[in-house]
Amino acid sequence: MNQNTNAIDLQFYVQGVRERNRRILAKMITLIESSLPAHQAMARDILAQLLPYSGNAVRLGITGVPGVGKSTFIESLGMMLIQKGHRVAVLAVDPSSQKSGGSVMADKTRMENLAVEENAFIRPSPSKGTLGGVAGKTRETMLICEAAGFDVLIIETVGVGQSETTVASMVDFFLVLMLAGAGDELQAVKKGILELADAIVINKADGDNVEKAHQAKRTYEAVLQLFTPSSPSWRPPVLTCSALEMSGIDEVWEIVLNHRKKFQHSGELKAKRREQALEWMWSLLEDGLKDRLYQHPEIKKLLPKVIKAVEGGSTTPAAAADQLLSLLDRQ
Ligand code: GDP
Repeated sequence: MNQNTNAIDLQFYVQGVRERNRRILAKMITLIESSLPAHQAMARDILAQLLPYSGNAVRLGITGVPGVGKSTFIESLGMMLIQKGHRVAVLAVDPSSQKSGGSVMADKTRMENLAVEENAFIRPSPSKGTLGGVAGKTRETMLICEAAGFDVLIIETVGVGQSETTVASMVDFFLVLMLAGAGDELQAVKKGILELADAIVINKADGDNVEKAHQAKRTYEAVLQLFTPSSPSWRPPVLTCSALEMSGIDEVWEIVLNHRKKFQHSGELKAKRREQALEWMWSLLEDGLKDRLYQHPEIKKLLPKVIKAVEGGSTTPAAAADQLLSLLDRQ
């Protein structure tokens, strides 16, 4: 155990989370999100104790452009799940919220009904750091929520940079919300987001929009035919729904469960999570190495000179990199 965590603190958090104490759960997440090394060390110790109780939730990622209806959809889906007896945690990965300190996503005002439910827990995106940093904290928060007995985790992200790929790599099922028309179909293909999707859901299929939504469904189905599915047991379906009128939401959940059953049966769910855990370790390792490199006093001192030398052509990039790396060994 780390020196920073005394047995009483450890007990306080582990027990509190296990007993589903919301205040302690929130405190624990604050610890995870803290940038203080002492807090991080403490969070790691607590996480290690809670790890055996994690892993039992359905991990569902949701993405879509702003205005597509993500929060309305999550509110509808979340309320439906709670009525079925589930406990639902909603987390967000939003690297765009860095400076404002407040996230525009998954905040409580956007999911008014869900926010007051005893069996729901909504947490906005960690607001500091790179996408990797934000996502790493969300991954740890996912484990804590699972240990606190939440059996459905919804991870929301808006399509900023690589955030969709990042969220897809931390969930069991990745749902892409779309709108009919507005050239959305083509844009999605361009960004390669369809390759990430385990299902596409066209939202706002209500009122005058129903026919357009069905047309879009056919277009997406045709486009998806062009892709080789990433799993032999799954072809991503296209559905329509109205998050506002709460229609078609049940069908989306059925698809998620169906996928789960198939992936559990084939062993793909376990394999996917194993791969994701390893991927996460590698990315932490790479971040850690980069940090070490940039924090190393001699490297820091030498770097401006080396950069100039490479720019001026007096040394080759390979020789420069070798020189800097050799300093790393001399800690
Ligand atoms: P987000 O930015 O993706 O989270 O989108 P919101 O959930 O905030 O929704 C954006 C707007 O679309 C709001 O005015 C919603 O009321 C509206 N909206 C969301 N879902 C639907 C839907 O299924 N049908 C219709 N007609 N409007 C919707």
